[in-house]
Amino acid sequence: MEPKHVRSTAEKTSLHRFVIEADEAAAIAREWGVSTVAELLPLLVPAAQRLARPPISNYRVGAVGLGSSGRIYLGVNLEFPGLPLHHSVHAEQFLVANAASCGEAAIRFIAVSAAPCGHCRQFLQEIRGASEIHILVTSDADAAAFRPLSHFLPCPFGPLDLLHKDFPLLLEPHDNHARLLHPLASREASKGVGRSVDDRLREAAEGAARASHAPYSRCLSGFAVADGEGKVYAGSYAESAAYNPSLGPVQAAIVAYVAARGGTGEEGWDIVAAALVENEAAAVAHEGTARVFLAAVAPRAHLRVYRLRS
Ligand SMILES: [Zn+2]
Repeated sequence: MEPKHVRSTAEKTSLHRFVIEADEAAAIAREWGVSTVAELLPLLVPAAQRLARPPISNYRVGAVGLGSSGRIYLGVNLEFPGLPLHHSVHAEQFLVANAASCGEAAIRFIAVSAAPCGHCRQFLQEIRGASEIHILVTSDADAAAFRPLSHFLPCPFGPLDLLHKDFPLLLEPHDNHARLLHPLASREASKGVGRSVDDRLREAAEGAARASHAPYSRCLSGFAVADGEGKVYAGSYAESAAYNPSLGPVQAAIVAYVAARGGTGEEGWDIVAAALVENEAAAVAHEGTARVFLAAVAPRAHLRVYRLRS
């Protein structure tokens, strides 16, 4: 158990960012008197919980993970009034999407404020070596113990039940080959006055689609949103072998938006435009969901949709 002064410092700490670089994580661990960065994770959970946005449940979940790079990633739950509950983002999913967008190769340890739900236990299976991810639940009476994911989900069904063992998994590099249909028209539009927000949205969503993890549907998909200052945030579709826990490209882009802005703020979602890039004529499609999402969350935002051909 950490000393009392460490706990009170941790409880007062407020973070407004979702990624802590390895050298800073090590420095904070030293400053707070814990011997490893993994031991720091549970101390950061209360600060992560404060960044959650659960207006439906009012149940704040914070997750803090340590990657093999030594970086720390935060995740929080997000809920969207007026939309079906499956649009929600769970804290552990947020954490994994946040790590994926930073190019993290593996997650080794996760501290989370409440026991991971079945949905998240399943989603984590998409990471190679998932059974060895060590998880500490800070609300447990025995909160000092990291236990492997295999403790939380014995006898798992996962990607290796459906895919070849060499197929890249969620945090592994994906080099998806696909070309944007009508790229000349897009290039033409970007001549002259510099790159418009729509050009940057398309490029970001296309990059996210190429990085997407869609081994089950083969529907590469990426989404990008722009805020009122013209900043662009993109996210990649991340499928689950069990299908339903998949993280859609819209939710992944919202994770990027929240992570880059250091939280959601209280003023609502500042989203003025969006772009979706996904395969034409694929087994699944996100355009309808994206339109429903934007109508509820950012009704004035316009959406452009682009198709990829694999
Ligand atoms: Zn969950």
